[in-house]
Amino acid sequence: MADIELRGLEKEYPGGVRAVDGLDLTIADGEFFALLGPSGCGKTTLLRSIAGLETVTGGSIAIGGRDVTRLPPGVRDIAMVFQDYALFPHMTVRDNVAYPLRIQKVGKAERHRKAEETAEGLSLGHLLDRRPGQLSGGQQQRAALARAVACHPSVFLFDEPLSNLDARLRLEARTFLKRLQRDLGITTVFVTHDQAEALAMSDRMAVMDAGRIRQIGTPKEVFGRPTSTFVASFIGSTPMNLIDAVVDHDTVAVAGTRVPIPAAMTPHVSDGEELVYAVRPEYTRLSTTAVDTGIEGTVAIIENMGVGALVTMEVPGGLLQVTVAEGAEPEPGTRGWAVAAPDRVLLYRRSDGELVGSERALVTA
Ligand code: ATP
Repeated sequence: MADIELRGLEKEYPGGVRAVDGLDLTIADGEFFALLGPSGCGKTTLLRSIAGLETVTGGSIAIGGRDVTRLPPGVRDIAMVFQDYALFPHMTVRDNVAYPLRIQKVGKAERHRKAEETAEGLSLGHLLDRRPGQLSGGQQQRAALARAVACHPSVFLFDEPLSNLDARLRLEARTFLKRLQRDLGITTVFVTHDQAEALAMSDRMAVMDAGRIRQIGTPKEVFGRPTSTFVASFIGSTPMNLIDAVVDHDTVAVAGTRVPIPAAMTPHVSDGEELVYAVRPEYTRLSTTAVDTGIEGTVAIIENMGVGALVTMEVPGGLLQVTVAEGAEPEPGTRGWAVAAPDRVLLYRRSDGELVGSERALVTA
C-alpha cells in the first residue's frame, strides 16, 4: 500500500511566499494523479515536498501510512523525474538507467536487461551506449524517465517529465508511461501545466491556484463540470465560452438572446442576478437558420483544427466560439445562430466566479 496523505500541508519560503497554503489531499494506492495549474501556483513545491526535497513549514505527509514529514528523500521509497534530469555525465545511458538497480544489488545481466527493455519502450534503444552529453534535451529527459521507471518504487513523482519532447514523442511517451503505471500499479503524482496531458493520463486530477487546490476530480468531472470560472478557463483544448449574462425571470439574458436556465440551477438564482454563461465550443452547434434559443452573430474567423474547425462569431457584447464538422465550415461574414446543448450549459456567479448551485466549500478527497 502506498497511498499518499497530505494534511494541512504548508510551505512558506523565506521572504513570505506561501507556495503551498494549507493543503489536504489523499492520493489512493495505485492512482495516477495529475497536479495542474498555472505557472507559480505551487505544483513543483508540492511535489518536492512529497519527495522530501523541501522541508515543509506546516502539516504532515504520510506515504503508505508512514509519517515521512521529517524523513530524508532516500528513505521515502520514491522515484522522481524532475525538469532537470540529473543524469550521471560519465555513465552511458544503459548504466544510468540501470544505476538504481545496481544500488538495489540486482545482478548485472538482469539490470541491463531491464534497462534495455525500459529504454526500448521510450525509443532509446539505439542510444544505450551514449553518454548524456551526446544526447539531445529530449533524449536526456527520456533517459531520466527510464532510470526512474526501471526500478519499481512505491511512488513515482514526475515533474513535467515530457516537457522537452516533440509532439509525436510526447504522445508515445505518454502512452508508454500510462501503460507502465497501469501494469505496475505504482502510485504516481504527475505535475504538468498541460491540461490535455492531465486529462489524458490521470485517474484523478487537482487544479491548483496560489498554493491551494481549486478542484479535484476525474478528468471527466473537471472537464464537464468545472466548479469555477478559473478552472473552466484553464481546462479544454479550445477555451470555454464565458459570456456575461443576467437572470431575467425564468431565463438568462445572454448576448441579446434569452435561453432557459438549466433546471438544476433554477433554485439557486434570483431575478436580476449577474452571472457568467458558459458552454464549450464542442457542445455548441452552428445553425444558419434562425433558432429561438440560439445566440445570433456573424462568423468572423475560421481556424482549421484538422478534423473540423473552430469558428469565432461576433455576438452582441463579445465573441463566441463553436466547432463545426469538417466540410461544414461557413464563409466569413455569414449570419449564424450558436445553439448550445442545454445539458452542457453552466452558469457561474459573476461576484465570485463559483458554479451556481455547487458547494462553496473546497472539494477535497
Ligand atoms: P511552474 O509551472 O512555473 O514550474 P509551479 O506551479 O511549479 O510553477 P512553484 O515552482 O512551486 O510553482 O512556485 C510556487 C511559488 O513559490 C512561486 O511564487 C515561486 O516564485 C515561489 N518559489 C519557488 N521556489 C522558491 C524559493 N526557493 N524561494 C522563494 N520562493 C520560491
